[in-house]
Amino acid sequence: MQVFKFGGASVKDSEAVRNVLSILKSQVKEPTVVVVSAMGKITNKLEELVKAYFYKEGDVQSIFEEVKSFHLNIAEQLFPNVADPVYSELNNVFVEMQWALEEEPAYSYDHHYDQLVSQGEVLSTKIISAFLESSGLRNKWMDARGLIQTDNTYREGKVDYALSEDLVQKELLPVLKTHQLVLIQGFIGGTSENFTTTLGREGSDYTAALLAYFTNARQVIIWKDVAGVLNADPKYFRNTKKIDELSYHDAIELTYFGASVIHPKTIKPLQNKGIPLIVKSFLDPNAIGTSIHEGDQRLQMASYIFKDKQILLSIQAKDFSFIAEDNLSEIFNLFSKHGVRVNMMQNSAISFSVCVDDEQHKIQNLLSDLQNHFRVLYNSNVQLMTIRNYDQDIVNKLSQNKIILIEQRSRNTCQLVMKSEEAGG
Ligand code: ASP
Ligand code: MG
Repeated sequence: MQVFKFGGASVKDSEAVRNVLSILKSQVKEPTVVVVSAMGKITNKLEELVKAYFYKEGDVQSIFEEVKSFHLNIAEQLFPNVADPVYSELNNVFVEMQWALEEEPAYSYDHHYDQLVSQGEVLSTKIISAFLESSGLRNKWMDARGLIQTDNTYREGKVDYALSEDLVQKELLPVLKTHQLVLIQGFIGGTSENFTTTLGREGSDYTAALLAYFTNARQVIIWKDVAGVLNADPKYFRNTKKIDELSYHDAIELTYFGASVIHPKTIKPLQNKGIPLIVKSFLDPNAIGTSIHEGDQRLQMASYIFKDKQILLSIQAKDFSFIAEDNLSEIFNLFSKHGVRVNMMQNSAISFSVCVDDEQHKIQNLLSDLQNHFRVLYNSNVQLMTIRNYDQDIVNKLSQNKIILIEQRSRNTCQLVMKSEEAGG
């Protein structure tokens, strides 16, 4: 058996969903678990909805209407019969969301986030499962919240491997004996108290890897809108090159530094069982893509990982004394408490600098905690560039017209925190 994963871009509209049907028809020759993300950019929209609801910033009802009509429009293109049962299935989800939105927030922001944002995956899988079925592709819709069990770290659920493995083997594997296709949500899981959790943004890849691990799958294929793993993000770079083969080790490094092609947590479970991961284009399903597998061949090609909208924090003791181990331990505890991931760090005698994603509310909460004990300077709107297999020419070229705030080099990797010159210091 194998696991397929279709991300948001591959199911962004009705045409895309029809393309998924044609890929499944032509490529599936064995029992296959199909993991699907929320459609298009709907997760961002749902994030907006949670913000509006929780912080009372913005018009909850009109954002919710956008979410509804986006899905209903796609459904109308796929199910011309207005009496199709898919409409009442979608409506049930909308009603559940409406009720939640009418209540005053009673839990943490992250808890509410997970209950609402997870519905993107529920809606997409309901639509796609029904569409495949109506097109003659028999499949079973399953609920990931009953299989992928996590603790209650909302928005970053920690997966209980033993429990989830047991559930997947007992509940999902037998279904593959009677149905060639199982359709299931990526990104979401459930707690022992039956709340929904999410696994972190872009977490559907991770779900695919977990399901492959639990079922001892032969391979995982992630279908993307690019030809495979590229040496740079085509959003920011011209003349990108596709990497044909990649070791697990290199893949982990690339994703760790922020290459957004695969979720960083995806590789480890696959590596532990030696399950190959193939990344290929849903626009060109017969092309070869990138194969990630065991191997000690190191990638020689230079690769570039660019992270925009970063914020650089410089943390100093209030009395300008040295930053010592006990300060660092306190600082790290606060980062962990607020769930802020460190993208790069550097320390000098009196200050500790950290580059993080500029996630407004999280950073504000972190800052106010940090400021109880430290002086914190910050520089927003900076960029973090990571270059693997760099040379000086590349570094010079990429830092042209930029002010370098921090530079850090190891033998293979160079990281630059930069600011555009015109933006000022
Ligand atoms: N829909 C979720 C997100 O956009 C999960 C995923 O796409 O992998 O973050
Ligand atoms: Mg997505």
